[in-house]
Order: sequence, then structure tokens, then C-alpha cells
Amino acid sequence: MRNTARQTRDNRTITVDFHDEATYFKLLDDRKAFVEFILTFLLALGVHLKHKATCGGGCLTRHSHYMRVRLGGIAIWRLQCTTCRAVFTVLPHFVLRYRSMSPEIARHVLFATHGGLSLERCAVLCNVSPMAVYRLVCALGHQGLVTVLTRCGLPLPTYFLADEKHSQCLAARVYLPTIVSGRVIWHLDYTEHASAAALTESYVAFQRAASQQEPSYRVRGILTDGFDSSLKSLRTLFPGARLGNCLRHALIKLPTKLTAIASPVRKALRSRFHTLLSRARQRKGLRVFALGQRLRRFADHVATTAGAANGQRVRRWVQDKKAGWYRVLADPRMPVTSTLLDQAHNAIDRKLFMMKGFHHPKGSQQAFLRGLAHLYNLVPYQRRAQHAGQCGVEVEGGTLPTRDWFLNLQILTSGGFR
Ligand SMILES: [Zn+2]
Repeated sequence: MRNTARQTRDNRTITVDFHDEATYFKLLDDRKAFVEFILTFLLALGVHLKHKATCGGGCLTRHSHYMRVRLGGIAIWRLQCTTCRAVFTVLPHFVLRYRSMSPEIARHVLFATHGGLSLERCAVLCNVSPMAVYRLVCALGHQGLVTVLTRCGLPLPTYFLADEKHSQCLAARVYLPTIVSGRVIWHLDYTEHASAAALTESYVAFQRAASQQEPSYRVRGILTDGFDSSLKSLRTLFPGARLGNCLRHALIKLPTKLTAIASPVRKALRSRFHTLLSRARQRKGLRVFALGQRLRRFADHVATTAGAANGQRVRRWVQDKKAGWYRVLADPRMPVTSTLLDQAHNAIDRKLFMMKGFHHPKGSQQAFLRGLAHLYNLVPYQRRAQHAGQCGVEVEGGTLPTRDWFLNLQILTSGGFR
């Protein structure tokens, strides 16, 4: 079930890092210093406030009027632009938007969720309701992935991996169209159909968000092993992009084409195919017809060692896939395997499993998935020593507002930035 955007007016709430509560309370008494602190914060962050469309954005927010709203006894101030009259709510970092949950608890709950603990267990450990945890993740997901990632200074991906994860909603099959580049998820969506129309509707959301950031945005290459319908939708949405097939999938698939033969024969053929592909990768100048010849020879070899039926099956499969392999081999910048996409899907899968209790046709699947994707991108969770302690955004060369992942999440998913 597609969730239509419920937002009726612009969300202009920003989260500001006041370092500690004492600083915030001291600043509350000094209107001028308060505004200056926020301007310095914005400057350091390198972001601009989202003024109204008619406003050039260059206007000052200094002479703003403010309102006090009580939220758990804490005064929340609002700033107003003197030109366009846009009002910005300034949330101090120790307050969550619309939520009574303390950020410390939210931090623990989200970290545990991301680490693979079930929503229910996170809730019991931190003494909150599972539904509150679910809503917290959904709230993060109201901000788009492209918006947040570009706020971190990441360039839009010119090469990426795209595929759909298969999942279930109650008894129905559902699909999660995904776009991954390196260690970050650029798109994670939810559809009930695997038709080209449904997938196009999903991937176009990414394309639209990206084009809004950069009107000249062009995709050069996409690696995918999805359905024919996803190939069709990607081809329509990103004309001129190379559409390659994953070489690792090819290796995994080969044994399934070889039936009724002894296991050692199958293994030997697989390793021969592996050698063929890795040699092709090393030889950058390998011409298409040379590779075609090798693939033909390989199919012949299959026919002689594993029988004519297997040979025929492999030949047909190669015929079907080889164009996609050529495209991977022809451009050195093309991703070669979809391993990183599989890893992202596996990480999300664990959360979807525990989300089952919330998974119903009227749920907020899209917001929830986007929230999970923000966690995937921003929580430091690298297993290998090379990038230990970094989050996906950092691994890809992005910059973050602070050293604190939770604070980053709060600041970056704020709605008040342009
Ligand atoms: Zn303005």
C-alpha cells in the first residue's frame, strides 16, 4: 500500500547542537546571543535554512520574533525570517521532535535496533513501547535519503547497484526496490507489485529527488540482477546508462544450469568459468569478440564433459547474459559485483523480520524503511579494521556535522534546511 505524503505544510524544524543543556539555558536569556549561536552553527554546518520560495534566502534571521512552547518544561524558541516570514522551530539536541522519549533512550534503542536486536527487546530493555520505537524510526524516514546524503556532501552516484529485495506483508509478496552505491543506500522503497510500472514508479522517486539536487544528473552505469521488469524500468528512467549483470551472480548461477552430473565435475566447471571471468577482468583491453569466443568455447567444453543437454542450457544462458557481462567489463568504473547491495539487503532483512508485528497493508512501510536506511548510512558499524568506527557516509567520503552519530541523525533529518 503506497503511503501518500501526509505532510501538508513545510516542516521547518531544525535540530541544533548546543553542546550541553547548561549552554542552552544560558542562551535562552540572551536573545541576540541565541540567534548568533544558531547562525554560527548553520555556518559551520554549511547549510541554508529553507525559506519560502519567494524569498531569496539571503535575508537575515536576526530580528526574529520568537514564541515559547512548553515541551516537557523546556522552552523552545522559534526564529522568523524578516523578509518571507518563514518560521523555524529550533530544537535543542536534547529534545526529540514531537516526542517525549529522551534522546538518550532513543539513541540506545536505535543502536540496538540497527545492531539486530528485535524491536520488542529494544523496547523492554529501554522501558518504552515497541510501537514508540517503530514510530521513532518512521519519523526519521520522513526525510528523503537523497536529501540527507547530499547534505553530507556526497556526490550523486553516477554508477550504482539496483535490485529488489523480496519480502512479505502478512501473506502477500512485496518488493523493496533498492539503490546502493558503495556503503550507502540511496533508495529503499516498498511496492506490492513487481511489474515494470510499479518499479518505475519507485525508481522514479530517486531520479526525481536526484534531479532536484542536480538538474544535469546523469547515470553512467547500473549493475542489476533484477527482473526483466526492473531492467525495463531502469532503461526507461536512465537512458544512456550501461546496464550490467553481476559477475558474481553469474558464478553462483552456473551450477544451477548443470544438472544430473557428479559434484566434482560441476565444481571443476565452475572454477573454469571463474578463471575465465577473472582473466577477462584483468585484461582491460579484451575485445568483445575474444570474450565471446571464450564463452563459446566454455559452452563447448560443458557439452563434452557434462553432456549435450547441459551444454545447450549453458549456451542459452550465456547468450542471454553475455551482453550484461560485456558492459561490466567494458567500463572499468562499473561495479563488478552486487555484494554491497546484498549486504545492505541482509542488514535490512533482519529488521524486516522483526518488523512483522507492524507489517500490515496500512502500515508506514516506506517511512519505516527509509528510517532504517538512514540508520544504515549513519550508524558507525563497519566490521573491518580499515573503516572501523566509521559510518557508511564517512566511508564514501562524506562529511558529517559532528562526531556523534545520533546527533548527526537528528541534525541531518531535520526539515528546515534547504
Ligand atoms: Zn526568508
